[in-house]
Amino acid sequence: MGKKLRVMVIDDDPLMGKLLKHQLLALGSGEVTLAAGGRAALHLLTTGPAPDAILLDLNMPEMDGLEFLRHLVGRDLRIGIGLISGEDERMLQAAGQLAQAHGLPVLGRLRKPVHPADLAALLEDWQPPAPEQRNGARVAFPAEALRGALERAELVNHYQPQVALADGRVTGVEALVRWQHPEAGLVYPDRFLAVAETAGLIGALTSQVLAAAFAQARQWREAGLELGMAVNVSMDNLATPAFVDCVEGLAAAAGVAPAGIVLEVTESRLMTDLRAPLETLTRLRLKRFRLSIDDFGTGNSSLVQLRDLPFDELKIDRGFVHRADREARLGAIFDANVALARQLGMQTVAEGVEDAADWTFARRRGCDLAQGYFIARPMPAAQLPAWVANWQARLPEQLA
Ligand code: C2E
Ligand code: MG
Ligand code: MG
Repeated sequence: MGKKLRVMVIDDDPLMGKLLKHQLLALGSGEVTLAAGGRAALHLLTTGPAPDAILLDLNMPEMDGLEFLRHLVGRDLRIGIGLISGEDERMLQAAGQLAQAHGLPVLGRLRKPVHPADLAALLEDWQPPAPEQRNGARVAFPAEALRGALERAELVNHYQPQVALADGRVTGVEALVRWQHPEAGLVYPDRFLAVAETAGLIGALTSQVLAAAFAQARQWREAGLELGMAVNVSMDNLATPAFVDCVEGLAAAAGVAPAGIVLEVTESRLMTDLRAPLETLTRLRLKRFRLSIDDFGTGNSSLVQLRDLPFDELKIDRGFVHRADREARLGAIFDANVALARQLGMQTVAEGVEDAADWTFARRRGCDLAQGYFIARPMPAAQLPAWVANWQARLPEQLA
């Protein structure tokens, strides 16, 4: 395989999953995720980035391969599908036809046991669509559609936990906006944030996100879950003089203290005049809101801002976190960020902690908090309490 495909393997047999993963990595796949069944796979697909290809076992107990394919239809994901089956040739044929009828690209079929040469041949010719062509960023929505979504309150927040690396304590969550679109399904922010900014809708969007996040924080607190709440704000918000009053008013209305709220800032596009954002951020900080610089080190967030703005927290971009233990260059940048933050008296968050190696690395290097798929994917609010309980049970293992 010339290209580094990201592949998802869906198989109820963990041994089979591991074996395929092994074979795929040996063939040069970039990243392999395992799902133990259709439901788990659908969850991964709704919460995370889409893979380039899926290897799907058809015979699974809880949701069989055919049913899984039906769920994929209409999502317009353009993921290459490789079908795997133990014996049943008819099942393989039916699945192939179903997939094709619905426009899902079928890469081919494999029989168990899977031979590496067959696997290689199956993936050989697959040219995944460029990222901007697939669901994610494929088409931005027109401003009018987004305006309607704001009016009909179709935006929902998902929440991704942040945990302390030292003791695993769940310190808070980051609110991440999604659009529950009546036809397109769950739409990620890369398809509507830029539109919101250019169409002058980002003020309305951010107020909705803030209001929902604060209300949620309050609700969790009443249920005995004391969680910090981080919300992303756009530079355009900060350039609006009324923004400070807006945030303060919403927090007061929901009954949450500014000290439990973190406002995350990235420079999504170049701001030539930082005077207004600087004033807004300074005023927010005076009111005890906490400020975080997001995606640090990507060029969107840079040293200039650290010098000029009163940040409490630095989020190390996931580009320097995932695989930082394996790639010396990343590790060096990671360390430099932690040292810089410490010197400036800021807390550090490692974003994109995707596996146990990332987790261990961030712990050893003295980073304060971690966020990423290894800990949890962003999830609907209702799932969070159960996740917390589960994480606490998992904890001794992570702290070993
Ligand atoms: P961000 O603030 O840096 O948020 C982290 C993004 O990384 C999220 O993507 C999250 O789902 C993803 N992520 C989390 N853990 C991992 C991991 O382990 N590996 C990988 N590969 N990715 C991980 P999402 O939700 O698609 O959001 C993308 C960006 O959109 C956010 O980046 C943020 O800049 C912006 N955004 C999201 N919600 C809002 C919002 O309410 N308002 C504004 N202004 N921007 C938002
Ligand atoms: Mg963020
Ligand atoms: Mg970030």
